[in-house]
Amino acid sequence: MSTQEHPLGISFEFFPPNTDAGRDKLMGVRDALAERRPRFFSVTYGAGGSTQDRTLHTVQAVRQSGITTAPHMSCIGSEKARLRDLLTRYREAGIDRLVALRGDLPSGMGGIGELRYANELVEFIRAETGDHFEIAVAAYPESHPQAPSFEKDLENFARKMKAGADFAVTQYFFSADAYFHFVERARALGVEAPIVPGIMPITNYTKLARFSDACGAEIPRWIRKQLEAYGDDSEAIADFGEEVVSRLCQRLLDGGAPGLHFYTLNQAKPTLRVLDNIGC
Ligand code: FAD
Repeated sequence: MSTQEHPLGISFEFFPPNTDAGRDKLMGVRDALAERRPRFFSVTYGAGGSTQDRTLHTVQAVRQSGITTAPHMSCIGSEKARLRDLLTRYREAGIDRLVALRGDLPSGMGGIGELRYANELVEFIRAETGDHFEIAVAAYPESHPQAPSFEKDLENFARKMKAGADFAVTQYFFSADAYFHFVERARALGVEAPIVPGIMPITNYTKLARFSDACGAEIPRWIRKQLEAYGDDSEAIADFGEEVVSRLCQRLLDGGAPGLHFYTLNQAKPTLRVLDNIGC
């Protein structure tokens, strides 16, 4: 495998598995995706720090591939001392890239913590560690579900970028126009850093619909209707999903997207099928 990264800037996101079988499977997925020479892998972080150790262990296992691997970290529900300690652990482990998030507080879980929004976390990381970490943040082309308006969310996004983020990765979406509109508006507010589209391969309609409702990503009616019609036919869903997502990726790249970040859900095949279709 060549260690030179793909010129397109693709990246792949994993979640920390909680079983030995899940861990073994992820190493196979990592190896299959590493062949595509991604810019980086990333590993999600459970709400309120609930997967702190598993995220770090997964990052350490994934980066044995030789590919830069970035832990996500969220600030909501955490005190500064805990976040400082985590940054130290990441530095000591040789990690130099992070995805910095506010996160969501699970219901019934304690206080908000000392940092309320992701822009404050980015400021905190910069104040504590200078330029050590390359920092990515989240962007929402269809608006964050709690945002009072598109404009306010955009202003909040611009503030977060100006706090010291190097690039952004978007929530997934199925409308290329939503992405292009968001990028144009962010540029008008002075955001110059890359905004990489987040891509969700379609494999399971029920889970996708549930997750999309929660995170505010819209599944267009024509896609929803068709997926509903396939019922339990997982092969038909995968074929249709592959076609829709491949076309979306091609349109994004043709329109100037600086790369693609895949929410792999710890599966290689759906992402590889899309990459094959777009020649990556
Ligand atoms: P923020 O940027 O802080 O925004 C949250 C809300 O507050 C928005 O409505 C925004 O408009 C508003 N806001 C922001 N700043 C201010 C301000 N200064 N004043 C007033 N309002 C403000 N979740 C996880 O739990 N673990 C993960 O690993 C994870 N990874 C993710 C990766 C990506 C690429 C994306 C897109 C999302 C991820 N999430 C993850 C989900 C994310 O944690 C949630 O969407 C969360 O609700 C918001 O986090 P944020 O960093 O975008 O928040």
